[in-house]
Amino acid sequence: MVSQKGTFIEYFIGFEKNSAVRGIFGEETEEVLRNLKVDFIWFGYMGVSDDDGHLMINKRYLSTGRKQDIYLDVIHELCHVKQHMEGRDLFDPRYDYVDRPTEIEAYRYAVQEAKRMGLSAAEIRVYLKTEMMSNQAVDKLIRNIGMKLEEG
Ligand SMILES: [Zn+2]
Repeated sequence: MVSQKGTFIEYFIGFEKNSAVRGIFGEETEEVLRNLKVDFIWFGYMGVSDDDGHLMINKRYLSTGRKQDIYLDVIHELCHVKQHMEGRDLFDPRYDYVDRPTEIEAYRYAVQEAKRMGLSAAEIRVYLKTEMMSNQAVDKLIRNIGMKLEEG
């Protein structure tokens, strides 16, 4: 299947100035984003390639998803880009998805940004709960993140 390719900065304008993104890559932000390849997939939402750490995005999600969700997903995935750069295994099979240290770290960072944006605990839970995750799994993830999400 022919897929379109590009770089992150062609699709996501101004992210190099974003404080959450700079919190991940620091001084290397511009360089990393300039070199980060983006590829389109036809399922799911977004992911990072295990091979070379490039970003994979479902184009339909990009055009139909809620801007806020897409933004938080990008923050989450950029955490994985950084983890991949550090040589960490993003798909360590010893862990369930919601228990995997790289996932907990990425979710924690995205939730921190969601709170900064003013999302309520209920809204954050809705964001975290995709059709791929059971209610039990979401509750476990929230516990693993270790952040207090008050009822509301
Ligand atoms: Zn993830």
